[in-house]
Amino acid sequence: MSDCIFCKIINDEIPSKKIYEDANFLAFHDAFPKANTHALIIPKKHIESLSSLEDTDTALMGELTLLLPKIAEMVGLDAGFKTIINTGKDGGQEVYHIHYHILGD
Ligand code: 5GP
Ligand code: ZN
Repeated sequence: MSDCIFCKIINDEIPSKKIYEDANFLAFHDAFPKANTHALIIPKKHIESLSSLEDTDTALMGELTLLLPKIAEMVGLDAGFKTIINTGKDGGQEVYHIHYHILGD
């Protein structure tokens, strides 16, 4: 999606500190970290939020979830981490491209 910040990061139109990338997913450091370590993990498919998911996204979201502990290990969060998904205006969502936050100290 042309006006989406995270799609621009996927397309290298906006620079980011990448942690992991494969054909379907990208993990990168949050530009405004709210913890010592703050990573974001996104599907490359533009999905606006949890509220926009369709049945056909089941496998993609499962794979995304399975990636979380791997990304956490890559950024050194060996003793555990927090995951957050903000959804919608009242859920504090700022970027409407679905993403998991991984936070840890
Ligand atoms: P949300 O509030 O939508 O759940 O989270 C969006 C996150 O994206 C925020 O933590 C914010 O700091 C981060 N963010 C916003 N713009 C950029 C950017 O251009 N680059 C990176 N790496 N993170 C961003
Ligand atoms: Zn997008």
